[in-house]
Amino acid sequence: MSNSHYSEVEIAAALEACAREPVHIPGAIQPVGCLISLDANMARIRQVSANIEDFVGISVANVLISKPREVLGDELMDLLETELVKKDNSASVLTATAQGQVGGKQRRFHVVAYPSDNAFVVELEYQLSPDGHRLLDKVNDWLVEVAQIDNSDSLLDALTRWVQQLSGYDRVMVYRFDENWNGRVIAETCLPVAESFLDHHFPASDIPAQVRRLYDINRARSIPDALAPAVPLVPSCGPDEATPLDMSRGVLRAVSPIHQEYLTNMGVGASLSIAMHEEGKLWGLLACHSVKPRPLEADLRDALCALVQIAMQRLMILRTAAETRLLHGIHESNQILTDENGRTLGPDGLIKRHGAQWLELLDAEGIALVTENQINCLGTVPSEENLLAMANWLSRHKNHEALWRSQALGESPLATWQAGDLCGLLAVALPTNTRHWLMLFRREQRHSRHWAGKPEDTPMMRDGQLILTPRRSFAQWEDEVRGRSRAWRDIECRAAGNLAKSMAVLTASHEIAQLNEKLKSLAYKDSLTGTWNRYRMEQAIDAELNAAERHDRSLAVLLLDIDHFKQYNDTYGHEAGDLVLVTLCSVLQKRLRPTDYLGRWGGEEFVVLAGNSDLVGGVYLAERLRQSAEALDLGKLGGVTISIGVAAWKRGDKREDLVARADHAMYRAKEGGRNRVKTEVSDII
Ligand code: GH3
Ligand code: MG
Ligand code: MG
Repeated sequence: MSNSHYSEVEIAAALEACAREPVHIPGAIQPVGCLISLDANMARIRQVSANIEDFVGISVANVLISKPREVLGDELMDLLETELVKKDNSASVLTATAQGQVGGKQRRFHVVAYPSDNAFVVELEYQLSPDGHRLLDKVNDWLVEVAQIDNSDSLLDALTRWVQQLSGYDRVMVYRFDENWNGRVIAETCLPVAESFLDHHFPASDIPAQVRRLYDINRARSIPDALAPAVPLVPSCGPDEATPLDMSRGVLRAVSPIHQEYLTNMGVGASLSIAMHEEGKLWGLLACHSVKPRPLEADLRDALCALVQIAMQRLMILRTAAETRLLHGIHESNQILTDENGRTLGPDGLIKRHGAQWLELLDAEGIALVTENQINCLGTVPSEENLLAMANWLSRHKNHEALWRSQALGESPLATWQAGDLCGLLAVALPTNTRHWLMLFRREQRHSRHWAGKPEDTPMMRDGQLILTPRRSFAQWEDEVRGRSRAWRDIECRAAGNLAKSMAVLTASHEIAQLNEKLKSLAYKDSLTGTWNRYRMEQAIDAELNAAERHDRSLAVLLLDIDHFKQYNDTYGHEAGDLVLVTLCSVLQKRLRPTDYLGRWGGEEFVVLAGNSDLVGGVYLAERLRQSAEALDLGKLGGVTISIGVAAWKRGDKREDLVARADHAMYRAKEGGRNRVKTEVSDII
């Protein structure tokens, strides 16, 4: 993405400044509350916020020389001591309410207290309208609604709607992190007064690592007035150390100037972010904006946190269910290995039949099964040549790993063979043969995302620093994802692994079937002429005899012998003789009916088994065969004639009887002058 106004160096410097900013120790708070920091024994007040008098009615100077009990009251101090000091839990945060006399009036406070290094921090906010019961009802209603939602999109939409209605923010969004911490707004409820950010992208640098870490220890971040001047702590550091107070766990921490600028650029007057965690990892943020400053009651803030937590639990359940469905969709069972008639599918048939469904389940653009001698594929995949090259490389370098994935093929050793924008590859070696690869391809992410409107380049300079805006951010996001596909999730890899297992079973059984075919043909066929051999012919005659016996059907056997065959060998050599045999067989084969079978009986003798034929039918067939042999032109070898004996089946005949009678008839044909047909009984032609 070109940037005409700012150099790469300037942009990098701005991003680095952003990433370095020590946001947890600003030395100041937001003016919505006040802060008191106590020493390790809770005996002394170390620091206070400069606005303390507005909240407790005692001046800064006097608070700093007072005892904590004189300022915070016995009730709250007793609570703090039991909850925080005695438990000695350095990670705990105490939330409580307290009463106090301020300016002669009884006031209620919302208290957040936490240990920080060797201090205890107490943050106070006024509690304006204590109607916690109403909020509890709302949280309960949300629980009921959530239980009925069965897909994550609806769930997140509902969450933004509920939060908007409860809080009154102008724009409530679910901001989802990708695997590289880039963000995208995936759900939103937005009032007309605010611009929609739905589907907008934000680069990882918008929410730098140290800010993301803060969300792990402190789920909510409320900024009720983005431009309200921060209230400094007095003194700026504790009496005995140089480091400013760590306010990571509190709610009042002042807004960093860079973030203030960012919010202003987006036209945001107030914001609230609540972390969304999945299995302990930051998954996204619920981000709320208001165009104007907007106060947020502490109780409501807590209730919104509960809403988010409930939604995340439901989301996990839905996700687990979806993953189960994914694995189920690509299950290992034999069901998918057969077609609707229960016949085993070849790899080709499997991909044709299930490929489209797999592509959808795995969010892939193309699928290919690559073996040394065959490629089966569906969808958009690289050329066969490139697929083979990729498979070869994988076999040579990765076959011990069984699974290889990349979301940026262009930066991988397979770059040479990448095709177009197919930059994601998930390759799984078949467990039966690690030179066979199942490959799934994904497109570049940029093309699969939609961007409403034209991205503008509007960075701004303030105090010599470049300030990023969301639109500028989008351009940067686009840069970051160039040449990358969506990452392959572990569950998707598992599903592809299962798929590879099914494929392996199938390819193996297909190979076995092919081998069986080969063996069968070796056992049954005459290697020279390709006709059935004597063994197979005898089987066939026996089977037909049985059928004839059972169903009282007719059956004829023809015994053919080539006339003066020795001459071809003697004159032109053995190979010429072979050629005569092969040529003659192919000609005879063509003249047969579907119920007739030709087999080599030995040397230059052949048998034709004519099903459903009586003697007359057998003689007609024999004559047809004789004529077609006679008509054959063998070039310099001249022509060829055959003598044929025909015998018809009689009840009680065995195979030997029938063949012997045909053989006898054939000799009579030889004796009769060759190139003729004779029957076992009398001359009927
Ligand atoms: P007739 O008309 O009496 O049948 O004469 P013929 O020459 O065909 O009969 P004979 O039995 O004398 O000779 C058969 C020859 O067929 C002998 C043998 O070498 C040859 N022969 C048998 N099998 C093959 C073969 O597979 N290839 C070749 N080239 N010759 C074969
Ligand atoms: Mg012979
Ligand atoms: Mg012969």
